[in-house]
Amino acid sequence: VAEGGEVTYKKIQSKQIMGSIQLGIQHTVGSLASKPKRDLLMNDFWEMETISFPPDGSSITPAHHYSDFRFKVYAPIAFRYFRDLFGIAPDDFLMSMCASPLRELSNPGASGSIFYLTDDDEFIIKTVQKKECEFLQKLLPGYYMNLSQNPRTLLPKFFGLYCFHYNSKNVRLVAMNNLLPSDIKMHAKYDLKGSSFRRKASKAERQKASPTFKDLDFAEHHPNGIFLETDKYNALMRTIQRDCMVLESFQIMDYSLLVGIHNLDLAAKEKREERILNARAKLQRKESAAQGPSSLNPDDDAPEADQNQLHTVASYASIPGTSAGTGGAALNRTRSMNRQRLVAHSTALESITADMDMPLEEDEDVPSGGIPARSENDERLILYIGIIDILQSYRLEKKLEHTFKSILYNGDTVSVCRPSFYAKRFQDAMAKQVFKKTPTFPLKHSPSKR
Ligand code: ATP
Ligand code: CA
Ligand code: CA
Repeated sequence: VAEGGEVTYKKIQSKQIMGSIQLGIQHTVGSLASKPKRDLLMNDFWEMETISFPPDGSSITPAHHYSDFRFKVYAPIAFRYFRDLFGIAPDDFLMSMCASPLRELSNPGASGSIFYLTDDDEFIIKTVQKKECEFLQKLLPGYYMNLSQNPRTLLPKFFGLYCFHYNSKNVRLVAMNNLLPSDIKMHAKYDLKGSSFRRKASKAERQKASPTFKDLDFAEHHPNGIFLETDKYNALMRTIQRDCMVLESFQIMDYSLLVGIHNLDLAAKEKREERILNARAKLQRKESAAQGPSSLNPDDDAPEADQNQLHTVASYASIPGTSAGTGGAALNRTRSMNRQRLVAHSTALESITADMDMPLEEDEDVPSGGIPARSENDERLILYIGIIDILQSYRLEKKLEHTFKSILYNGDTVSVCRPSFYAKRFQDAMAKQVFKKTPTFPLKHSPSKR
């Protein structure tokens, strides 16, 4: 909610929330370092620790220029264990969380949650409701059991649960993996539930620079689905099935599959166009410098002249170092290397390829970590996916809503319904409508003739 230009949550300035939670996380990770690693015990899941942060500082906390606050850390030892399981070293977690200011994301959800992204793109911090926070606490032992049996999962990876107390208000926050690296352009994003009821992005959402579309939009954009090679398709479906079984056992529903699509062919085209534009701009600058300040506007050039220019720039652009994107590419490479180092088993591809020993394709222009796929027009796609928003349990609150909505609408299409029905519909939609199996990619397919 914006108030006089300031973003607020529960009437607390976002800046205050972001700065305070960084102080809190810094303190908890620091104090954990003095506690030696040990096996996880059952009571570690229920433990919590609250620290006061007076602005003038204390014997254990630094002075700061935010308002007086308290910071509660849920299950610190358990989450340390999870972070360790995911290959996140304490120093790396600290650096990602605290070394640079967090960025706020605009949330397409209806819940009013706020999302913060760490500067290095690794983690997302989401504000959650009290009910969701309590549910995650109860979920932790089962979540732990599932992870130790099956670390390859598309379920959210939870790295911390916190509560920020300020001015008799509580802001509960969960730290998770970020599924969509912001250095890789997502040409489309979908939040899919396998339901059709009201599953269309709002007009306001569609007008955003990078909207999150929903099931009905997907069906419109990809009427024949997205094609995966057989082994990847099978691996993805197996992972979704196992994850849905876990979710169903906790009576969780209303979750989504978040799908970010990077279109390699579109990206290559955009890159070419950008180079041409850059080179053209350079040429124009040169020309106008040569002709002096009184030169004609180059926009008035005849189309023929334009063609000639394009030829010149094509060779121009192929000279290494002339493209304006070079610096960015170098940065991207460092970032993606950092990503590989930090979050092991965490890319979409790794999440589904449990028992496959697939060599990772080392192509300069192909971003790593995503799942290779094809559109029905045979465009090369890279998918970034994960299951999100899993903290709503039917057991806790959905019973009422179900009876109410099922009176109003046909139960089959209402997105709030019994967890087993939800899981089945979700899996069916992913296996039949969203993803399709295709023979190995070199074989061209013509889905329109199928
Ligand atoms: P609602 O309950 O109204 O559905 P919410 O506030 O609980 O919404 P989510 O459903 O968790 O929010 O997420 C909303 C959107 O935020 C997603 O559609 C997605 O675009 C983005 N998002 C959520 N989690 C992640 C994540 N881990 N990585 C990247 N983007 C995410
Ligand atoms: Ca959601
Ligand atoms: Ca939600």
